[in-house]
Amino acid sequence: MLIAEMTMSEFAAGLEQTATVLIPFGSTEEHGSHLPLDTDTLHATEVGRKLAEQRPLFVAPPIHYGVCRSTSRHPGTVTISTETLKQLTIDIVSSLQRQGLRNFVLLSGHAGGTHMAALTDAGERLLELLPAIRIAVVTEYMLAAGEGKHLIETAGDAHAGEIETSRILHSHPQLVKGRAAKEFPSFPTGILVRDKQKFWPGGVWGDPGKASAEKGARLEQLVVAALGRLVDQLEQWSEK
Ligand SMILES: [Zn+2]
Repeated sequence: MLIAEMTMSEFAAGLEQTATVLIPFGSTEEHGSHLPLDTDTLHATEVGRKLAEQRPLFVAPPIHYGVCRSTSRHPGTVTISTETLKQLTIDIVSSLQRQGLRNFVLLSGHAGGTHMAALTDAGERLLELLPAIRIAVVTEYMLAAGEGKHLIETAGDAHAGEIETSRILHSHPQLVKGRAAKEFPSFPTGILVRDKQKFWPGGVWGDPGKASAEKGARLEQLVVAALGRLVDQLEQWSEK
């Protein structure tokens, strides 16, 4: 049940079937010279949509902006602050809760550490604010990398590489413009740098050359299955 496409009456009827909603979080962020800026949003939205075909589940409209630190100076990246992301998350979950939803999966297609910390922080705050809810904060990329580790050939594949390129080749092949060269950047340990692109010129971390649509299809299936198990667990979660 994609909230964006539902009518008021359909939404009300949906609440009779489930109180669970998945909120896809993405980013508008460079993904090398070959993948679209919306890549992370597409990952999270796509697996939410697939899971909603298998079980009663609301999928909220995606949040297309995230906190992008190391790619903030690359062309096309549009980043928001951790404060904005945290408050936006709290506002959206609170409003959905007032609409009758109780189980929340915050699924992030963007795996940045600062971004995930802001989402986790928002989740912790929501646990305090809303006693009736259950909440999970999940990094979509980590599910793909973990569940699909037997499929992935590139050690240290992290951004716009084998995994992400395979996923988009499968879900949105028309948006893949060739293949960027493989790249494994190295940033100085501890020191924060202003000109991130100087240390990471191509904006790829991994090897897009190892990507295939078949791998992407398999990875997507594995992520959807893992997410299904997580939703089961969350819906039955009790700390009593
Ligand atoms: Zn990404």
